[in-house]
Amino acid sequence: MEIKKGIGVSPGVVVSTAVVLDTEDLVIPRRQVAPAELDAEIARLHRSLLENIEHLTRLRESVTARYGRDIAGIIDFQIGILKDKSLVEQVMAEIRNGKTTAEYAVSQVMRKYAAIFTQMKDNYLAERVKDVHDVERQVLRRLIGHKHHDLAHLAEDVVVIAHDLMPSQAATLDKAHVKGFATDVGGRTSHTAIVARAMGIPAVVGLGDLSQIVSSGDPVIIDGYHGVVIINPDEQTITEHRESERRRLKVETDLAGLLDLPAQTLDGYAVCLQANIEFPAEVDDAIHRGASGIGLYRTEYLYLAADHEPDEEEHYGAYADTLLRLKGRPLVIRTLDLGADKYTQNKAASPERNPFLGDRSIRMCLHDIPMFKLQLRAIMRASVLGDVRIMFPMISTLMELRQARMVLNDVMEELEDEGVSFRRDIPVGMMIEVPSAALMAEKFAKEVNFFSIGTNDLTQYTLAVDRTNEKVAGLFCPAHPAVLGLIRDVIRKGARNSISVSVCGEMAGEPLYTLLLMGLGLATFSMSGPDIPEVKRIIRSTTIEHARQVARRVMSFDSERQVLHYLREETRKIDPEAV
Ligand code: PEP
Ligand code: MG
Repeated sequence: MEIKKGIGVSPGVVVSTAVVLDTEDLVIPRRQVAPAELDAEIARLHRSLLENIEHLTRLRESVTARYGRDIAGIIDFQIGILKDKSLVEQVMAEIRNGKTTAEYAVSQVMRKYAAIFTQMKDNYLAERVKDVHDVERQVLRRLIGHKHHDLAHLAEDVVVIAHDLMPSQAATLDKAHVKGFATDVGGRTSHTAIVARAMGIPAVVGLGDLSQIVSSGDPVIIDGYHGVVIINPDEQTITEHRESERRRLKVETDLAGLLDLPAQTLDGYAVCLQANIEFPAEVDDAIHRGASGIGLYRTEYLYLAADHEPDEEEHYGAYADTLLRLKGRPLVIRTLDLGADKYTQNKAASPERNPFLGDRSIRMCLHDIPMFKLQLRAIMRASVLGDVRIMFPMISTLMELRQARMVLNDVMEELEDEGVSFRRDIPVGMMIEVPSAALMAEKFAKEVNFFSIGTNDLTQYTLAVDRTNEKVAGLFCPAHPAVLGLIRDVIRKGARNSISVSVCGEMAGEPLYTLLLMGLGLATFSMSGPDIPEVKRIIRSTTIEHARQVARRVMSFDSERQVLHYLREETRKIDPEAV
């Protein structure tokens, strides 16, 4: 049994059999072609390009229908490569001048093409290199007759292990049989993570050499909650995880019955449960799980899933689509939270020494007003289509908040001058995810309509623990009394100033913290859709009085170990299956 720690990017646990994708580059030997046959080689090249374009166009249609336009954008980029005239001309020239085969010419030219991307030293473009390699493999497979490993039609349940999943592979996985995936490389913004979340299957990335250790047919466990993959688990571990998987499935089935019941304690204290999304298409599932609205729309994924900076219409289209799906339920649109681990094409050109402390999020937006305005215009235009609220991320000073609001006012004036309708009294809120904002919550509360506590970043910045670094993952703990103290104070100050406060970090979806957060006075939780039913069950099994007692006790502890131990005990008493 071997345990590998990576980054959990999509929740859930699965015990299944591995299919390891062949990641060997296709080696194309150089072969001389007689001058009389060169035209036939060029015809072969055009045929394979055309077939590929047709295949990808069909794929794009089905992917758009299944996952929405954002993911289909990945495929558009690949079609663009295949249609790139200068690239095709270079391949033709290579065939003629080198008197060689179409496949050899493709491999030579595409490698040079990929090298150009790699040299740009840009994280976002580095991701695009994978598309170039993917296109190369697809064309080569057609030319030399290799079949694509067919993950779209599988006969049995598997988990997919790969060095890195190619975008076209990830987007076409057979949802009925692919139960999870794990990759050697990747981070929170990789294609793998994006597609896994949209598919609702567990995934772990950043596992180093996993694909070299695992063989197809090996039993593996993928634990997307804890970012762990267990290879050849022993009987006891399999039983434990099967049990937790079974519990989860049973809980899901049982919990389906909760869908129409209110998130309310036994003594009538009502809580609002909302969902976090990255793509509009995720709304349907969130509602299906019982979300009463979207408490966090991470709009930076509009940038991360596309091969270009989205224009105002693309922003507007995504917001309009989301609102249509929500049918009047509230939508909190968080303005761009790019930077640090989430880069755009041209923003990563000059790497920063401490990107999490650098030009990220609202800071980046205030440094690029045209980009910021473009998004705000789209949000304001969409504000007449439903219940839209704006939220600014990573605010650390009052001046930043005021500047952001000024830009928003400018946008409103511009729209007014243009005769475009919008909702002038749109609620404006901010995330509390930096200790300075939490400590000054009293002052901030006078200038916004709501707070949402981003416990992922608040924990990272309070404890000085990089949330993406597996080496210090053990130190990342929102149960640390310092973090809890900040959360308690923000909730209190929000209440004192009559503004609503929610938590939208991962903590909100962890059943372990439900009693505590409720007891601290939190009335709105926003979490990933699949977590909603379980949190609702805890709320429905307790009283607000009990939750308050739990919170009082927790706040008297001085270590996270005591907190975790006590919360586990108390939660098990009311819901033994939850933790
Ligand atoms: C957070 O920091 O808790 C949060 C919700 O924002 P993100 O995870 O997108 O940084
Ligand atoms: Mg954050």
